[in-house]
Amino acid sequence: MTIRRLAVFGATGDLTGRYLLPALAALRAGGHLDDRFTLTGAGREDWDGPRYRDWTAAQLERHGAGLPADARRAVTAVTDYRKADVTEAAEVAAVVAGDDPVAVYLALPPSVFPATVTALHRAGLPPGSRIVLEKPFGEDLAGAVELNRLLADLVPERAVFRVDHFLAMTTVQNVLGSRLANRVLEPIWNSTHIAEVEIVWDETLALEGRAGYYDHVGALKDMVQNHLLQLLCLVAMEPPLTLGERDLRDRKLDVLRSVRPLTDYDVAHRTRRARYTAGRCGGRDVPDYVDEEEVEAGRRTETYAEIELELDSWRWTGTRFRLRTGKALGRDRKEVAVRFRSVPHLPFGQDKDVRPNVLRFGLEPENLSLDIMATGSRAEHLAPLSLTAEMAPPALPAYGRLLLDVLAGDPVLSIRGDEAEEAWRVVEPVLSAWDRDLVPMEEYPAGSDGPPPRHPAPERRDELLH
Ligand code: NDP
Repeated sequence: MTIRRLAVFGATGDLTGRYLLPALAALRAGGHLDDRFTLTGAGREDWDGPRYRDWTAAQLERHGAGLPADARRAVTAVTDYRKADVTEAAEVAAVVAGDDPVAVYLALPPSVFPATVTALHRAGLPPGSRIVLEKPFGEDLAGAVELNRLLADLVPERAVFRVDHFLAMTTVQNVLGSRLANRVLEPIWNSTHIAEVEIVWDETLALEGRAGYYDHVGALKDMVQNHLLQLLCLVAMEPPLTLGERDLRDRKLDVLRSVRPLTDYDVAHRTRRARYTAGRCGGRDVPDYVDEEEVEAGRRTETYAEIELELDSWRWTGTRFRLRTGKALGRDRKEVAVRFRSVPHLPFGQDKDVRPNVLRFGLEPENLSLDIMATGSRAEHLAPLSLTAEMAPPALPAYGRLLLDVLAGDPVLSIRGDEAEEAWRVVEPVLSAWDRDLVPMEEYPAGSDGPPPRHPAPERRDELLH
């Protein structure tokens, strides 16, 4: 059933202005929004409807400038506002009241989720309503379990949309498209042929005014626990029977369950954390992380995290999965790089520099590339070649696709509760060992490649062969 009412809690925040409003305007422009669609913003600002519509128009001007003006105006026109503390049942009740089901989007700090879900429970939701949450889902495993319990009391699991906008990116969906619609990939998609999968989200951006959020979370919880583990799921999952929500989410869950639990020894040897010091990146000067506004050095928050995982399964035992992310780095590198093992025999002579194949799913910019060796039967003619294809621009922005699914009631791209808990199980040993300082906090100058590599380069032929 299509829902025509959206209530955004945290309606004056960054996520709402930057992503949700432009996504709605994109849906309107594409003819995807019902004519009777309405949006109610709820926040603590003492605003009224006209004041909020002014803000909405300004946000759309700023973040959705490329969208048709009439679509932006149409979204603004169906928008209203209610001042509400969304942790108070009576105030929540006034926002969600009505006979029609409502989709409630919690664009709130994660620390507020449990109190808000409790308030919604007390207030009561119209039957058929849905809840949308942003990551991180809970602040640790116990928090995720508790949040899932509260949500289960409120609405059925199929009506809970735990959003991970990475899953709606064209190139992320292309991981499955490429794997499952080509005869040439799936037969070699295993540890016999793949030595390493590197899942990387390196960014030149530093805090960009979001220290109030980031300093409480850090790189591991902000990126690895959710987005990068979801990418791991798509790369490593068994082919699902269908792309329906149950098959897809069951197969992703299998991957998370197959991650070998990390011991303290593993964490000490297979994970790294670091934070940036002063430097220059993205054309501007960046101060030491600890000197950034709203950062408390005592929290020891990392801005760089790296973990190496292994999966216990017939398909993957013997392949390394390296997940890495960092802020204020020298260059943007956002990709899934699948590194194949070296060829078993070289008729050209063993000393020839023959590089193993690498298949890259570029996440930003969105592209697909394959590094191969080519040309000539004589060793001196061999040369590496990179075949690259740019992905067609998506019909809808990621948040547009997600909101469309929410309104239509299809949770296929949403993280199921058991997936969220299992993802915490993967990172909990890391958080625990880092808390106990079993892994040093390294440093890297802003604008550099991150902390200097500790591992030998993965391209080494002898390492990749075995
Ligand atoms: P912001 O801090 O910008 O916005 C949060 C909003 O929630 C503010 O408007 C705040 O109001 C409001 N709020 C907090 N407590 C209450 C309350 N008790 N009652 C009513 N309103 C309340 O955060 P973001 O928009 O950046 O993030 C929101 C969520 O989205 C987070 O879970 C974040 O992890 C997630 N997210 C954000 C992304 C982004 O790029 N911004 C990207 C991906 C996920 P007030 O101003 O009064 O405090």
